[in-house]
Amino acid sequence: MTSRTPPDSGPPQEQPHHHAAHSHSVGYQLLEAIRHCEQRGTRLTPIRQHVLTLLLEAGRSLKAYELLEAMKQLYPQAKPPTVYRALDFLVEEGLIHRLDAVNAWTACQDVSGHHHDLLIVCTRCGKVAELSAPLISHQLHDMIQAAGFIQTTSETELRAICQDCSQKSASAP
Ligand SMILES: [Zn+2]
Ligand SMILES: [Zn+2]
Repeated sequence: MTSRTPPDSGPPQEQPHHHAAHSHSVGYQLLEAIRHCEQRGTRLTPIRQHVLTLLLEAGRSLKAYELLEAMKQLYPQAKPPTVYRALDFLVEEGLIHRLDAVNAWTACQDVSGHHHDLLIVCTRCGKVAELSAPLISHQLHDMIQAAGFIQTTSETELRAICQDCSQKSASAP
């Protein structure tokens, strides 16, 4: 007699989906954002969710017109104010960063986690790295104050070119 293993009866019950620290999938980050808003008593409406999802999926910063184009796929009536209002909300909630260096927006890579105050922005492709540099930020804060200015942003943007982009331009004729 051959002992055959019975065919699988349905999908496996175990779905190890709780490696939260590592799997920063878009779905996970979106859930985090929804929870974050609930805790703050605000609401991530479908339009706000969609704008955030676009930024999360892009993996780089997006400009307003890029977001508007993408929004129109789902919301044909979407107008610039639709996008700008959603972006304002998401910035307010700390879910995305507004980048003056490239005039674009990027999803925060670490909403619920670590403090970061330094954003390195690739001015070619819009990729962003979030860093924590409290010492430098403190020094900058003091210098700004000593110069008679008041700091209005909690993050410092640094314009740079990422490795990918610099390699591309190096190999170009
Ligand atoms: Zn961030
Ligand atoms: Zn780049």
